[in-house]
This record gives sequence, C-alpha cells and structure tokens, in this order.
Amino acid sequence: MTDEPTALVEVALPVPLFQTFTYALNPESTVIPVAGSRVVVPFRNRREIGVCLGPAQARVTGPKLKRIIEVPDDEPVLSADMIALCSWISEYYVVPVGLALKAALPASLTGASHPQPTRKTHRIVRLREDLPTLTHREKAFARAPQQRALFELLESLGGTSTLEHLLQRLAFSPSVLKALEKRGLIRVEAEEVDRDPFALRPGEAARTHQPTAPQRDAIRRLTAASPGEVFLLHGITGSGKTLVYIELLKEIVDVRGQTGIVLVPEIALTPQTVDRFRAVFGDRIAVLHSALSDGERYDAWRALKRGEKRIAVGARSAIFAPLSNVGAIIVDEEHEASYKQGETPRYHAREVAIVRARAEGSIVVLGSATPSLESWSNAEAGKYTLLTLPERVGGGRLPKVEIVDLRHRATPLADTSTGPGTGYSAVIRDELDRALSHTLQRGEQSILLLNRRGYSAFVQCNDCGDVVVCPNCSITLTHHRAPERLLCHYCAHQEPLRARCARCGGQTLKQRGLGTQQVERLVSDRFPGARIARMDVDTTSGKWAHAEILDRVGGGAVDILLGTQMIAKGLDFPNVTLVGVVDADVGINLPDFRASERCFQLLSQVAGRAGRGPKGGKVIIQTRVPTHHAVSCAVAHDYSTFVREELEGRIKPAYPPNLRLANIVFSGTSDRAASGLAIRGADWIRELLQTQTGGQVAIVGPAPCPIEKVKTRWRWHVLLKSQNPSELTRVGRYFMKRFPVPAALRVTFDRDPVTLL
Ligand SMILES: [Zn+2]
Ligand SMILES: [Zn+2]
Repeated sequence: MTDEPTALVEVALPVPLFQTFTYALNPESTVIPVAGSRVVVPFRNRREIGVCLGPAQARVTGPKLKRIIEVPDDEPVLSADMIALCSWISEYYVVPVGLALKAALPASLTGASHPQPTRKTHRIVRLREDLPTLTHREKAFARAPQQRALFELLESLGGTSTLEHLLQRLAFSPSVLKALEKRGLIRVEAEEVDRDPFALRPGEAARTHQPTAPQRDAIRRLTAASPGEVFLLHGITGSGKTLVYIELLKEIVDVRGQTGIVLVPEIALTPQTVDRFRAVFGDRIAVLHSALSDGERYDAWRALKRGEKRIAVGARSAIFAPLSNVGAIIVDEEHEASYKQGETPRYHAREVAIVRARAEGSIVVLGSATPSLESWSNAEAGKYTLLTLPERVGGGRLPKVEIVDLRHRATPLADTSTGPGTGYSAVIRDELDRALSHTLQRGEQSILLLNRRGYSAFVQCNDCGDVVVCPNCSITLTHHRAPERLLCHYCAHQEPLRARCARCGGQTLKQRGLGTQQVERLVSDRFPGARIARMDVDTTSGKWAHAEILDRVGGGAVDILLGTQMIAKGLDFPNVTLVGVVDADVGINLPDFRASERCFQLLSQVAGRAGRGPKGGKVIIQTRVPTHHAVSCAVAHDYSTFVREELEGRIKPAYPPNLRLANIVFSGTSDRAASGLAIRGADWIRELLQTQTGGQVAIVGPAPCPIEKVKTRWRWHVLLKSQNPSELTRVGRYFMKRFPVPAALRVTFDRDPVTLL
C-alpha cells in the first residue's frame, strides 16, 4: 500500500436508505467515472449497480473504505439534467436518490448483469376451435371448470398466449393445458422471437381533413410559446387533440430540429393514438410499450440517447427518455391516475414533466377532455395557459345521454344481503335492454361499462339514493360486518347502521359492486347469438391483451364489449353507437375524496366513445343519484359546472387542490402490528408537529385503509394536510428518515396521492 491520496467518489445506490456512499476509485480501471456513470460496487456482501454523483465531498479513509469494482460503460448513462431531475424527485416525493435514479434508467442497466438483449424462443399456446355460445361451453366443460377458465382466458387474449405466461404468471397447471390439447381445443407451438406488436400494426393513414379553427388557433399559440410555458389543452372528446399534438411535433422536430416526448396513460389502451403518431413520424419514433423485452427497451433507450430516434412515446416512465434538446412534452389525458407511480418512487409523471420542461426550456401540453382539478386550478390561477377545443371535428355532435333512475324499483341492484340471485332485468333495466337489442338488430356495436374498481361496500337509500358520509371528512362511510357498523377510513369515525334513511325515512340497502363475469353471463343468456368480449383485469393480464381485444372490436368481430373503466379510454370506433353504464353509483360512493371527479371523468370519457361515426350514438347511465353533479354534469357534457361545484366541495373539509396532501401507509402481515405501528407513527408525528411547525401541517388518523388488506399485508394510514408544500416536504423527510420501523413492517410515503384506497 502506498500513501498516495485515493480519489474518492460519491455513489447513489438503489437501496432504501436516505444517504449516498463514498467509494475509492479502482486503480486498475481504465475508465474514470464521472457524474452520471454507472459503477459496480461492493455493498453488504453483494454487488450493486450505482450511479456516480461526482467527487466525494468528505475525505474518508481507513479500512472500511471500499473500492469500485467496475465502471461498465465508456460514457455516463445519465445527463446532468437527468441527475438534477431525479434529485428533485428524491426531495419532493421523499425517496432515496438512488431509487429515483434507478427509475430513470431501463431495467437492463440497473439489474445485476450487463445489458444483453436476448431473443427468447417462446412456446405459444393457440386456440384451435371456437365454442361460440355459453350452451356449447357448459356442455364441453361440464366437469372441467379449470379447462374452461383457461379456454376463456385464451379467448379473451385474442386466441394466443405464451406458455410461460399461462403457467407462471397465471398459475394454470400443465395438466389442464394437456387436457385441452388432447381434446383438440388448443395447440402448443414454438415461436422464435419476441415480436414487436407495434411493428406489425399498419400505421393509420394521416387524416386528410383540415384543422378546425380552434385547432388552428391552438397550434398557432403552441408554436409561438416561450420556453418552459405550460398549456392546458381542454378539448371535448372527438375534438382532435391528437392532430394538435402532431402539428406541434412537426414544428418542433422537423423545423426546429428539436426532440419531443409524448406521454399516454397506457400504451396498450391507446393503440389508435400511437398508430397516428407512427403514421406521421415513422421510424423517428421510439414506442416504449410494456410488451418490449428488457433488451428491446434498452435498444430503444440507446437510440433515443444517440439521437437516432427523435420522439419518445410511452407511459409515465417515458418522461425519463434520454433525449437532449427536448422542445415539447405532451401529456395526453393528463387527468389519468396511471401517471402516478404506485410504488417507490411515487412520482407523478405530469409534475415531473413540468419540472423537466422548466429546467430544459421545453413547452408542456397537458391535454384532456376532463382536466384534473389540479391542472384546471393552475390554469385559472394563470400558471398554465388555457387552450380550448370546444367542438368535435367533422361537425360530429356529442352523443345524447339518458338517465335510468334506479330508485324505487322493486328489485335491489346487487344487494349482497340477498345473495347473488340478481337476474338480468335487475341489472339491465328495460330502457338499456331495448337499446341493446336494437343496436344488435342494426348490426352496430355496444359498450357496457361496469363502474367498478374492485372495492365497494356502502349503504344507500333505495328511495332517495342518499349515502351516509363521515361528518368530519365528507367521505362515504364503509359498511363493515362483525360488528356491524359504518366506518370512516380517513379519521376512523364510527356509527351504527340504521335501518331507515336519515334523510327521507326510506328503506336502505347494502351495496357492493357486481362482477364483470356475472354481468357477462346475464347478458349472454339474454342475447345468445351476440358476440361478447369482456375486458377487465382478469382478461388483460397478457402483455398485449388489450390491443387484441380492441382490434377485434375494431374489426367488427365483437357485438358487445363489456368491461371496467379500462374500456373508457381513447377508443375511436365509428360503429359503436350505444354505451351503457350499468351502475354509476359504485364509483361515486367509493371512500375517496376524488370519487366524484373520477366518476365524472369516467362517465364523460365513456360517453365520448359513442357516436364517433356518421351513425351517431346514444349513452344510457343507470343510477340512483341522477342529480349528483358527477352524473348530471356528465349527462349535460358540462365540465365547467362540474369543476366549479367540485372545487367548492373541497373547501371544507379541505382537499386538493385547495391544500397539499400526503398519505402515509403502515403495513404488515398482522393487523395488530400494522395498526400498532400506525398509532406510534401518528403519535410521533403529532409530537413533532407540536414542537416544530407552528400548525402548518395537520394530521388525520390513523385509520384502516379503505382496502384494508393487499396481498397478505394489512394496511393502516394517516393523512398529512398542509397549505405549505415545503413544510410538508420537511415533515415527510424528517419522519421517513427517523421514525424507527421494525423489520417485516413497512411505511410508505405517498405525496399528492391520486387515490386513498
Ligand atoms: Zn332516503
Ligand atoms: Zn372521517
């Protein structure tokens, strides 16, 4: 050993610790790491891939100092801008910087090995035979429910899936597969490479129609924008927002030689939008969709970094596209909850887009038919520039929306207390039934939406539609059994169940959402000849399942598309002339302060699916709360009234955008341990707030989360509320760094949560 001073660097590692680490350079290494370089380092008896942040600040010496093992790349993988962006994410969302940096890189660069794009041989399972009606199926699978499940799953995946997916992800047993193969219903074959599903999709020919006057105006103002300017593009469904995006990108990329990023909520749900970008920009676009293998994703990332591709299109993580000279960032359907990452780092891609754009001088376009209340308030406050597209292109009209009032009807809809014995006529009322039947007769298509997010148990009056809410939080109280009571999942307020409605004295009923499968069965019994496709989390676990189902709808192979909120997004099928909402109330009455907003967005979006072609269209909404503003404003296509009433409703008690919120979730495999930790955490924060912040941050809870258990973990939470964002950051960081959490228990901090379920 010599006494020569060792050069030291600071390294961020993807570990859940709020600190960086100091390492010595490896004298044998030929590459000297700089800020943004990947480094392989020893960490707790294992190897980790970290990111070098530059020379170390402190002079550390001694035997504990470890050396970098390897610098795998010749060039840094992250630019100074990207490191700054990740540092902001780390600070604002209260997450270790190493985890924020990891989120900005493709998985193959942060895994234990070096990127090695591999092409696997897949075993593909393919359906050989159609079993068209339910009666055929009942016969064929009378004693084989597992075989039926697999058969129907394949069907919903468009007829094929990989063997690996069926056996590993979906846990079907090989014997079920063999049995189906033996009966000649499926075939298993080898397929050589991972296909890029988009490569096979024909790019939709650019539409020939001229921009409307509002479109021209929007394009003009966007191309004249100053760097860092944020626009809210409020355009009704069918008003041609995509054309505006495309014209802006033509200017940015073709004329100015800059680059662009387009964020869409989920690539698989928006194949038509993506196709239009591909048709115009061809191979200058990198589509970062979820069906890419790690290797393909890395290739796309590298092509963007080298400037070979000029436009990145993708879901939220595409905000980290390694483009330089970014001229515009477009966030389509900016109100969508999927822009918020559900795991650490819990960033919101829309907010990250705005921070990135300000730092790099790009303009931002937030597009939506139903803007989030946050973005709308920012536009009203003058922080964002508002652009409006008030009419449909081609002179199309918004569809007529009708209400079917479910109150006072004899048969309660989906009353769990009476068991699942609800018949078709209780679920699909006469008006909707007639419309479905006429649509089928005309050879046109229908969409049936089940507004359901997998959770709901509330008590609603059968006469007036009233639902009991918490006096402190204005949140729907959740019905619990054993002991039977109503509970607030924000502040833990409890009250007994009443037999009669407090408002009108009417009889109350306990409600739970219906399952999509249940509705599918009822509808197919009623219309045995109809070709029905179901789209929900069960039928779309395959990487490319959504697009396959949607292609079948587009190709006319489906008469009735039935599904959850995932069918409401940017679909454009001219032959869909009827949209039916089976039960709007389930969404409205979720115990979440955004329930009304989500419901209004969903109803407006799904209504926008009808009447996209010359045949026009009709929407029927079944509800017990026809006068609720989420329903009445969706019926009238009236965003401005909705947003005004909803904003007023969030003043007292205050919710975003009238204040800032953070949701701290405590979880563990035992309910007692999770609640104990939540109580200690809440006490800890209360003490901190008393001594430190002068009342700028308030705390609510602890209470069990509305969804009390997720994957074997019990969940409790507390809410932090503040008008002062930096105080919220300070309290959050102080808590997350210092509050002791025993092993096996977990605490997560969710800043600006999009859901509190
Ligand atoms: Zn009542
Ligand atoms: Zn409450």
